[in-house]
Amino acid sequence: MRELPAFRNEPYADFSVAEHRQAQQEALARVRGRFGAEYDLWIDGRRVRTEEKLKSLNPSCPTEVVGMHQRGTPELAARAVETAHAYFPEWSCTPARERAEMLLKAGEIIRARKAEFNGWLIYEAGKTWPEAEADVSEAIDFCDYYAREMLRLDGPQPVVQLPGERDELYYLPLGVCVVIPPWNFPLAILVGMTTAALVTGNTVVLKPSSDTPTIGAEFVEVLYEAGFPEKCCNFLVGSGALVGDVLVEHPKTRLIAFTGSKEVGLRVNELAARTPPGQIWIKRVIAEMGGKDAIIVDREADLDAAVQGVLVSAYGYQGQKCSACSRAIVDEAVYEEFLARLTAKVQTLTVGPADDPGNYMGPVINERARRSILDYIETGKREGRLLAGGGPAPGEGYFVQPTIIGDVSPEARIFQEEIFGPVLAVTKARDFEHALELANHSEYGLTGAVYSRNRDKLEQARRRFFVGNLYFNRKCTGAMVGAHPFGGFNLSGTDSKAGGPDYLLLFLQAKAVAEKLT
Ligand code: NAD
Repeated sequence: MRELPAFRNEPYADFSVAEHRQAQQEALARVRGRFGAEYDLWIDGRRVRTEEKLKSLNPSCPTEVVGMHQRGTPELAARAVETAHAYFPEWSCTPARERAEMLLKAGEIIRARKAEFNGWLIYEAGKTWPEAEADVSEAIDFCDYYAREMLRLDGPQPVVQLPGERDELYYLPLGVCVVIPPWNFPLAILVGMTTAALVTGNTVVLKPSSDTPTIGAEFVEVLYEAGFPEKCCNFLVGSGALVGDVLVEHPKTRLIAFTGSKEVGLRVNELAARTPPGQIWIKRVIAEMGGKDAIIVDREADLDAAVQGVLVSAYGYQGQKCSACSRAIVDEAVYEEFLARLTAKVQTLTVGPADDPGNYMGPVINERARRSILDYIETGKREGRLLAGGGPAPGEGYFVQPTIIGDVSPEARIFQEEIFGPVLAVTKARDFEHALELANHSEYGLTGAVYSRNRDKLEQARRRFFVGNLYFNRKCTGAMVGAHPFGGFNLSGTDSKAGGPDYLLLFLQAKAVAEKLT
């Protein structure tokens, strides 16, 4: 095994540099040239095609078909789990160093094709250039970070040595891991969960979101090119409702790595808790779910910094991040001033096709999402004061105006429910104590931020703002692998802390061996 330098986050391309801009434009043209291509499922190391197809569309222009996919069936889902189970004994014996090498190689391949992967994210997920660049960079980070983490966890771990014994502890993989990612980080989260499972020696059945299967299919090819045997990672596209239950309930499924909505996550957790005949383990569920993330703006905040932080956290990727700021809780002393400055900025945001780098916001993911967000905006107009946006934005794609609703009560639906779109609820707090109380008034607990120059207030928040990822005087999105292990409390999930030193342990089980010395 080569000597590895310490982990370092992948730098972002600077698109203000003409050369980078040009490279991205050329990659977009290449990706566009591949629109409509047909992709296969991968089961037991073989390509599989089905009668029925599933199209993925460009949300900036939904008449364009990005990729044509097979539609997996419950029978194929069961076969995928069974064949992954059959291959597990072989894959789990591959030395960890070899698996880590493959993963580093996968990271190198994505790095070499970064602009092209950006292109797939721009066209299939509606990410703007910088958002796509951040997603692909994070995917590379997961490869580089988890490869190093596996090397750390390989071999005997330190334990106390009893006199007259040799005492050891090893980590072993678990079995078949069903990986179910969302569409909103269609590369980073998919790569993070899949590679964590593989590098620890589990076999995988990967079911990408039906909105972004092309990105998943392109990544699976990278895995195979990097040396991962085809049999260790099955790839099954299909409707979550149709194949999801089969994957989760199958007695040979050992663990499930899920990221998505609260509703689906809870269902996965409930189904996985049952023990069907023939199942000889308790399934493990890693579930990262929704958020209703708040930024507190204190009366002692740098107001311009707070406005900027709320702006990028609420409207970056059209508010479709689990970490997006959807509640701004503002001290009454600066409330009107904050709203005036924020509203002025939001009115300058441009919305349009994601491949045009002049647009700050692209489309939302699909028509169903657009309708649901517009319904929430109507609810918001009744629950508060409309200050910006308030409806669809013009164009062929699924465009929604960046929207601010002020004077929102903590019991309002738009204060409590995850909207997953560019809609910000702003609520007035009497003082910092009240702001903390409002921020914690949620069933979720994913991210949060506080803008204040007062150290005592920051320390109060450190202790009492109940979220998995808390930020001071910066935005509440943009967690970096290694620095900000990511995952939430309460109904935001199992706090699995992706990109942190505990994460791979979720995909492993420990075995202690004691030998009496003669
Ligand atoms: P979703 O729950 O609709 O879908 C997530 C995945 O589950 C998809 O692959 C989908 O096909 C699959 N699925 C649907 N029904 C299923 C079933 N019955 N059984 C098994 N799988 C099924 O979520 P989404 O719309 O793709 O993603 C957005 C949600 O994800 C938001 O709630 C967001 O907050 C959350 N999210 C959370 C995190 C986090 O780290 N906490 C990160 C990103 C997104």
